[in-house]
Amino acid sequence: MKSVEFRTDKRFIRRARELKTVGAMVRLYCRAHHHTLQGLCGECSTLLDYARRRLEACPFGDAKPACNKCLAHCYSAHHREQIRIIMRWAGPRMLRYHPLMAIRHLLAARRPPPRLPEKKARVRKMAN
Ligand SMILES: [Zn+2]
Repeated sequence: MKSVEFRTDKRFIRRARELKTVGAMVRLYCRAHHHTLQGLCGECSTLLDYARRRLEACPFGDAKPACNKCLAHCYSAHHREQIRIIMRWAGPRMLRYHPLMAIRHLLAARRPPPRLPEKKARVRKMAN
C-alpha cells in the first residue's frame, strides 16, 4: 500500500527523521551486541532495510504516529519483536549519544496516533 497524501506538508517530515533515528538505534545495538566495528551485521542491516521499506509504505505518510502507538501494525511478528528489543535497549542510550534525536523521538511518541485510513479500518474490524 502506498500513500502520498501527507508527503507535501512541510509540517510532516517525520519519516526521514525517524529513519535516521531508527538507524542510529540499530547501530548502537549492533555495535554493543554483535561487535561490529563499522556499519551493521547482516541481521541488523536486513532489519533496518525492512524498517525503511515499512516506513516508505506507511499508510499515514509523513503524518505517521510513533510505531509503538500505531494502530496499523505493519511489521511482521518477528521483525516487531526484533525492533522492540532494540528500541528498548537503545532508547535510554540514545539520550547520551544522540540527545536531540532521542528527545524528538520521545516527543513523537507522545502524540496521539491518527486514525486508520477508512479501508484499513474496515479490514481490521472484519478480522476481529
Ligand atoms: Zn547486528
